[in-house]
Amino acid sequence: MLPDSYVLVIAEKPRAAAKIAEALGARARVKIDGLSVWVGRLGRDYVVIAPTAGHLYTLYTDERGYPVFSYSWGPRWLYERGSEHLRRYYNVLKKLAGRAKYYVNACDYDVEGSVIGYNIIYHLGDIKRAYRVKFSTLTREELVRAFSKLQPLDWENIESGVARHVLDWIWGINVSRALSDIVSRLHGRRVVLSAGRVQSPTLLELVRRHLERATFVPEVSFTLSARVEHGGREYGLENLFQPFRRLDDARKALEALRGSGRLVVERVERREVRLTPPPPFNLTELQLEAARALGYSPARTLEVAESLYLESLISYPRTNSEKLPPTIDNASILRKLTPLPELGAYASELLRRGLLRPREGVREDPAHPAIHPTGYLPNRRLRREEAELYEMIVRRYLASFYPEALVEEVSYTLVDPSTGLRFRLSGRRVLRYEWLRVYTYRRVEPAEVPSLTTGASVGVSSAKLARVYSRPPVPYSRATILRWMEDVGIGTEATRAEIIETIFRRGYVRGSRIEVTELGLDVARILSTLFKEITEVELTREFERKLREIASGARTKEEVIEEAKAKLREKLLEVRRMLSEGRADVIRERAGLGSGLTTCAVCGRGAAGSYGGVSMCSVHGLAYENIARAYRSWREGAGVGFEDYLRELLRLRSVGRYAREVAEYLIKRVR
Ligand SMILES: [Zn+2]
Repeated sequence: MLPDSYVLVIAEKPRAAAKIAEALGARARVKIDGLSVWVGRLGRDYVVIAPTAGHLYTLYTDERGYPVFSYSWGPRWLYERGSEHLRRYYNVLKKLAGRAKYYVNACDYDVEGSVIGYNIIYHLGDIKRAYRVKFSTLTREELVRAFSKLQPLDWENIESGVARHVLDWIWGINVSRALSDIVSRLHGRRVVLSAGRVQSPTLLELVRRHLERATFVPEVSFTLSARVEHGGREYGLENLFQPFRRLDDARKALEALRGSGRLVVERVERREVRLTPPPPFNLTELQLEAARALGYSPARTLEVAESLYLESLISYPRTNSEKLPPTIDNASILRKLTPLPELGAYASELLRRGLLRPREGVREDPAHPAIHPTGYLPNRRLRREEAELYEMIVRRYLASFYPEALVEEVSYTLVDPSTGLRFRLSGRRVLRYEWLRVYTYRRVEPAEVPSLTTGASVGVSSAKLARVYSRPPVPYSRATILRWMEDVGIGTEATRAEIIETIFRRGYVRGSRIEVTELGLDVARILSTLFKEITEVELTREFERKLREIASGARTKEEVIEEAKAKLREKLLEVRRMLSEGRADVIRERAGLGSGLTTCAVCGRGAAGSYGGVSMCSVHGLAYENIARAYRSWREGAGVGFEDYLRELLRLRSVGRYAREVAEYLIKRVR
């Protein structure tokens, strides 16, 4: 069974434990409480390799109400619903930790992995006898190297990670409790709602975009749509002039163009464009590309990538890096990839041509390189999603070694001699494919154009009048809101996808083109009024920066947590005071839900004000204002009457839902 004295190695997941055991030659598998652990040798010592299943500990409190700032770490299976399966891991590690000579945290090398191992060793073992191993792939070579030089614990990562958990916890529990309290009082029954430190600013951004779309009313302008004919073929043109504001002007231009019937080539531009290959993936870019090309959600991509990592096929996916440092032996990886069907040929070509320097991106990560294949080949049939994502990662890696692609672009400027209006006819063809051949997720669509010289004239084959409607902003998808979170600097690459899924699970949003639900709108209104400062991006980003500064040693955990508590306490006491003093209608009004005294004529919710002499809620009011504003372009441009305009709006798909409802209401009222 187990030796009397041993080193306890803690792996983040059972599959990682198996890989580590394999690499260290620990072949004796022992079952404890039905859980596999491995026994072998590490130098002169016995070693026991045991898995956890992610975090075994969580923060909890016994206090009710808010503000609450007293908390402790406790086993998740005791304090978190749905975590019963962790009890076994807890019991096994507890048994093993008691007799261990020293401890090695072999969880994934990042902030979360550091916290997972720290909590287990701190609570079940002895943190003074703990070490860390650092690796980016679960390959034998790298694991053997990592275990040959055990490192002291990475305290900066631990401190920063613990601080993040504490911040998220005190923020989440306090604001969730206050929010539930407010809504329960308004509804006269108990309602449980949740908010989150990074989740809430993200929800507010989704709401902003949703409302822009749902209250959208297009302005109208007018333009020409022309095609030319040359050598028996027709070509579409791009307009180089602004649309006309007035329909009459567009009509006159159309008549003139039809009258002349020809366009003259004014300018010929021919240029060669170099397309550089994309750098290898970091997690965000992988998530965006997999969403675009394969239709995966960011959370799904992370899950599948983690599975590939646990199979030793790719390096650690939770990385921000787009670099492949010199410590990575690319020639060796490429050689190992040559047996791959289809893709192997590209690896061979790179080796043959001596193309061994990858193009790198600018983003860096102190702990890990860019996501790249390890050179290990699949030794089982991969599931469809695994196979697709693996192929994408390998293609991207291979592409980064290739030279630039070369594309020839031709652009003709055509002018209508009678009106001076200019059009563009453009074409392109690929002269050298290079990386475009291997990275098939990017395509340069060739477009043929005739060969023309300056002064030549081409016949107009068709010319029509076209209406141009201004467009609403595109809705967020899971991938694009993830990009937004990265751009504004909230959350981490390891947490963003999960935060987005949480917003979905709460029922605040729905759909792949994300829409906000009524519940989401109400929660957002309360958060953005009563909890304004603490749900804004600025403060969230500021704390993200401070968390990073803990990791770099520039700040202490305690200092940052105290600051967060102070911010929260102030806000929460203010809310509690208001609730204890205020009547329900005052709370409603302060929370941006309308006064409750007058109701919206369109939907019956509490009214936020009077719009064109009609009481409306805030969203219908906003839609009304947009209808009134856009009407100018319709009236002045085409002389459309108000009622016809409203009817026209009901036919246009870009008109937002709330704007449509207001238009319907106004049509009924006109009658
Ligand atoms: Zn309304």
